[in-house]
Amino acid sequence: MVRRLAAAALACALAACSTSDARPAPNDTIAARAAAELSARADSAAVAAGRRAPNEQGRVPILEYHLVGDTEGRWSRHRDRFRRDLEILYERGYRPVSAAELVDGEIPLDAGYSPVVFTFDDASPSHFRYVEREGRLEVDSTSVVGIWLDFARTHPGWRNKAVFCMLPGATHGHAFFGDKGIAGQKTEWRFAKLRFLAEQGFELCDHTLWHANLAKYSDAVVQEQIARGVMAIDSAVPGYRVRTFALPLGVWPKNRALAREGSWRDPRTGRVVSYKFDAILEVAGGANVSPSDPAFDPHSLDRIQVYGDALEQALERLDRTGTRYVSGGGAARPDSGSRLSAIGSRQTAP
Ligand SMILES: [Zn+2]
Repeated sequence: MVRRLAAAALACALAACSTSDARPAPNDTIAARAAAELSARADSAAVAAGRRAPNEQGRVPILEYHLVGDTEGRWSRHRDRFRRDLEILYERGYRPVSAAELVDGEIPLDAGYSPVVFTFDDASPSHFRYVEREGRLEVDSTSVVGIWLDFARTHPGWRNKAVFCMLPGATHGHAFFGDKGIAGQKTEWRFAKLRFLAEQGFELCDHTLWHANLAKYSDAVVQEQIARGVMAIDSAVPGYRVRTFALPLGVWPKNRALAREGSWRDPRTGRVVSYKFDAILEVAGGANVSPSDPAFDPHSLDRIQVYGDALEQALERLDRTGTRYVSGGGAARPDSGSRLSAIGSRQTAP
């Protein structure tokens, strides 16, 4: 009897059934319950959003993560804290946008919601790990991408718009999320990971070849470091337009213009690889000004390093000071003719 009750309780836990009903629910009931929960979550988020007054002159937090794993520290977020970061942001009405969307001034969020840009630097396996099961590759549910996709499945409106700022040739596994067996990652999985990210809607961002301190090098080496980052992404996802660059260590090259635009000739093939970025990420500075603010500089975007309570404090400050960007809805929607024509005319301007 005791054993039977324990088995029923376990079945109940697995099926997420209520304590008043110890029998496992049929699959269609479970699916209906999950759908009802999703719908209730979306409804309550919409109600909260409806209470927020639009403020499209407000600031936008651009979050900066490095390692995400078993420890919490200056350069590492514990994965439980990371999950909580997503929850906190979701509850407060933030929804992800990419860096490219931000600099285009396209914030495709409904009225009352606020944009947040997630950036993940250095392409460690902690961001994206595969596990091999019976010959099939699965995203490790404890890596950033796994946590993110699980979260998106259960939180309506959570968009796959994180930005991965990658190194194709750094050591210790920081080469497109791991190679040479580091953290169980195989070298031949690297391009598949980039393609997966692009297909899912995430943004691929350059962070140089191996994280060079660009102030220390000649103009030629600066361009080689940056161009080889772009070239490697293009090798994985042919034709991908890399629009965002994250400065390693937040350090500018002596010739600042080369962070934005340059070219390098591959001596092996004779091919010239050029780059021209629409967005450049700094390593610190706090929440960034709105794209509508005259002070907005897409080639110097401030970020918030997420460690300790930095995220909570930044969000509190934005609310307390009334400086949080809140979407006005229609004006920024893709189906808005007026906004689209405004963007179009800006793109064609000299
Ligand atoms: Zn870095």
